[in-house]
Amino acid sequence: MMTDTFQKKMFQEMERKEIFNQAQNYAFEYADNACERTVFPTDESIANLENFTEDLPNSVGETVEILKQLHKYGSPATTSQIGGRYFGFVCGGVLPVALAVRWLADFWDQNSALYVMSPIASKLEEVVESWLRELLGLPNQTVAGFVSGSSLATFCGLAAARYRVLQNNHWDINKQGLNNAPKIRIVAGRQAHATVAKAVALLGFGTDNVEWVDTDSQGKIVLSQVPKLDKSTIVTLQTGHVNSGAFDPIDEICDRAINANAWVHIDGAFGLWAASSKKLRHLTKGIEKANSWSVDGHKTLNTPYDSGIVMCSDQDALSHALQASGSYLAYNENRDGMLYTLEMSRRARVIELWASLKYLGKTGVDQLVFGLHQKAVQMSRELSAEGFHILNDVVFNQVLVACDTNEVTNLTMHHIQKSGECWVGGTKWDDKAAIRVSVCSWATTEEDITRSVRAFVAARDSVTEP
Ligand SMILES: *Cc1c(COP(=O)(O)O)cnc(C)c1O
Repeated sequence: MMTDTFQKKMFQEMERKEIFNQAQNYAFEYADNACERTVFPTDESIANLENFTEDLPNSVGETVEILKQLHKYGSPATTSQIGGRYFGFVCGGVLPVALAVRWLADFWDQNSALYVMSPIASKLEEVVESWLRELLGLPNQTVAGFVSGSSLATFCGLAAARYRVLQNNHWDINKQGLNNAPKIRIVAGRQAHATVAKAVALLGFGTDNVEWVDTDSQGKIVLSQVPKLDKSTIVTLQTGHVNSGAFDPIDEICDRAINANAWVHIDGAFGLWAASSKKLRHLTKGIEKANSWSVDGHKTLNTPYDSGIVMCSDQDALSHALQASGSYLAYNENRDGMLYTLEMSRRARVIELWASLKYLGKTGVDQLVFGLHQKAVQMSRELSAEGFHILNDVVFNQVLVACDTNEVTNLTMHHIQKSGECWVGGTKWDDKAAIRVSVCSWATTEEDITRSVRAFVAARDSVTEP
C-alpha cells in the first residue's frame, strides 16, 4: 500500500539520520563561508533562483535531493545576515547558542499555546518573562506574550490599551464592538514606526484620527507639542527611531499620562534593550511607568527569527483583549502562553530567547548592546573623517550618512550594495537622501567597520571621479 511505503520511508529517514547529517554539513559549509562571501547575492545567484520555478511534484520525492537543491541554489541567494557586514534595516545577527538550542528544539516541535501542550515551553515562558522584567526594569506584575515580532507585539499592546481604556469608559469592546463606542484618542509622534499606524488602522481607530505630535531634528517627540492627555487617550512612544535611533522623552510624557490616567505603549523594537546597558540606560529613563511595551528578540538581542515580545503591566487587559472571549479566563499555576498572544498554535520561540539570555547573562547582554553602540560610533567617526556627513546623533546603533548631494548619496549606496562588501539601505532624512547603517550583529568587528568604511569611500570615488 502507498501509505505504508510512504511511512516506511519517513521512519527510515528519522532512524538513519543521514538527511540531518547532510543538512548539518551544508549548514557548516554555509557558516564557514559566511564572513567571506558577498554580503548580498551576486546577479548569477539571483538568476539561479529560477531553479525553484517548477511544477508541484506529483509524488513523494527524495529528501537528499531537496536539501541539495536548497543548498546549491538557496544558500548563495541569501543575504549574509550571520556575517558582520550586513547593516540593512534593523535586522540583527544570530547568537550561536540560540542556533544550537533551536536545532535541538526543532526535533521537539512543540506547540506553546497551552501548558498541557508543552510543559517545557510554558516553564521557559514563565522564566523568560521574569528575566525580562528584571533586565528591562519593568513592574513586577508585567506579563509577556511571545509573538512573531514587534509588528504583532505593538498590535497586541494597543489592543490591551483599547480594552482597558474602553473598560474605563464603561464599555466592553469584546461584546459591544466599535459601533457607538466612546471615542478613543490616539497620540503618536509624527515619526512613529509604520507598524504603529498599521496597528491603529487594524484596531479601528483610523490613522486620520491620530493626534500626531511634532518631532525634532532627531525624530523625537517635542514635549511642548504633546496635547493634554485624558483617560480616553492612548499614547504611543518609541525607544529607538528606525532611522536615527532616537528615543522619545519617555519619562516626562509617562508622568503626564499617569496623572491623566492615559495608557502609554512603548514601541521599543530594538531600542528597549538600551535599558539593559548601564551606560545607555539613561535613554530609556521612565519606561517602567508605561503600560505596555513591544520589543524584538530578533534584532538587538540576536535571537533567530521570528521573535517578538509584547509586555504589559495589566495582565487582565492583555489577556481579555487577545482572547476576546469574555470573562471565563481562569489563571492557574501553569502558564498558558496563548493568553498573551493572538495566536493559538505557536512555535516555542521562547526557547531561543531563554538560551540567549541564559548564555549572555546581565553583563553579556550589556556587552552585546553597548558593543553595537560602540561600533556605530566608530562607523560615524571613520565616515566623518572621510568627508561623509553624519545626519543624526548616534545615541544607539543607527547611523545616517549622506554625501554632498542626493544624487551622489544614492549612487554611492547603490555601488556599496553592488560591491558585496557590506549592505546598507537608503532612507529620506529631512527631505534629503540618506544611507542608513544599522549595527545590529554581535559578529560585527572593528575590522568589519573599517572595511565597510573603505567600501563607502571606494563607492563614492567611483561615483564622483571624472
Ligand atoms: C523593526 C521595527 C518594528 C517592526 O518589528 P518587526 O519585528 O519587524 O515586526 C517596529 N518598530 C520599530 C521601531 C522597528 O525598528
